[in-house]
Amino acid sequence: THFGFEQVDVEEKQRRVAGVFDSVADNYDLMNDAMSFGIHRLWKRFAIEQTGARPGQRILDLAGGTGDLGARLSRLVGPTGEVVIGDINASMLHVGRERLLDKGITGNVQFVQANAESLPFPDQSFDCITIAFGLRNVTDKQKALASMHRCLKPGGRILVLEFSKPVAPGLKPLYDIYSFRLLPLMGKFIAKDEDSYRYLAESIRMHPDQDTLKDMMEQAGFEDCEYFNLTGGIVALHRGFRY
Ligand code: SAM
Repeated sequence: THFGFEQVDVEEKQRRVAGVFDSVADNYDLMNDAMSFGIHRLWKRFAIEQTGARPGQRILDLAGGTGDLGARLSRLVGPTGEVVIGDINASMLHVGRERLLDKGITGNVQFVQANAESLPFPDQSFDCITIAFGLRNVTDKQKALASMHRCLKPGGRILVLEFSKPVAPGLKPLYDIYSFRLLPLMGKFIAKDEDSYRYLAESIRMHPDQDTLKDMMEQAGFEDCEYFNLTGGIVALHRGFRY
């Protein structure tokens, strides 16, 4: 049946995603810096600013893997708040836990293995949900957005940081050379894993563009949805509220 085929595809995709992150977990940070020339730090800083995180809040950083956003959020919510770092992949969570321990960040951070499509949290349990460079990898993105909406408190917000479609004039051809030629090369020499970074370039291309993702967020029930293009639209930050 058609359904049968779809099941196989979904499982195959999930296996591939798991494989990619198992093999990159260790040199993940180095690759991020190399691939983005360090700019991913600025993108993440902007996302954190847009959370409006305050002491005492409960925040979920989904696809939180190596704890990059989680560490910053933990400082903002303080000892009376809580940050939950959720990720589908145990190796990424493990790297994240070690890294936060090294930085002395403990107490208000929890690690939970979770699939974004069916979050294991009660309704209306977070003030804010962030997902940075993660939605792209989720098989059923609409389902994931609905699941995040369910877990947000009224007045809460979602922030989606993700690769998007370059919109700055002249950027597209450069970006194509970068992602199809340079990226797999960097994957090969720095991470010793060309295939994973080929997959990365493909997954970026398949991901919905700015306006499509905004529509999907509205579809999932978010209101006042807006996006900000970063670095000419190579990355976009989408923001939406649950009222
Ligand atoms: N947020 C981190 C950052 O910005 O550095 C990590 C991003 S990493 C590119 C993508 C993460 O998404 C991986 O840790 C992967 O395991 C996770 N992921 C993929 N599919 C997922 C899903 N369905 N639910 C939750 N996490 C998922």
